[in-house]
Amino acid sequence: MDTIFFLEGNMGIFDKQQKQPLIASYKMRGKKIVCPYCGSDKFEVRDVLLNTTAMTFLGFDWANKTASAMICTNCSRIEWYFNQPEFSND
Ligand SMILES: [Zn+2]
Repeated sequence: MDTIFFLEGNMGIFDKQQKQPLIASYKMRGKKIVCPYCGSDKFEVRDVLLNTTAMTFLGFDWANKTASAMICTNCSRIEWYFNQPEFSND
């Protein structure tokens, strides 16, 4: 199985009608997040609903939560975070 989530309705990360995305630097637990591929620290973040059916199937009881998809604005790599990253002013 290579898909454990799906992009739902207007929350789809490739939705062209999404309002202007916020591009910024972020940190998680005090550590700045940088792209593991290109080293950029500028990301566009989208909240994506996790797949209830798949999560239930896999035995998770926290289904229906959202995860944060961090899209590198330089190379377009996507990093996933279950918890919302914080803004970084560094
Ligand atoms: Zn990158």
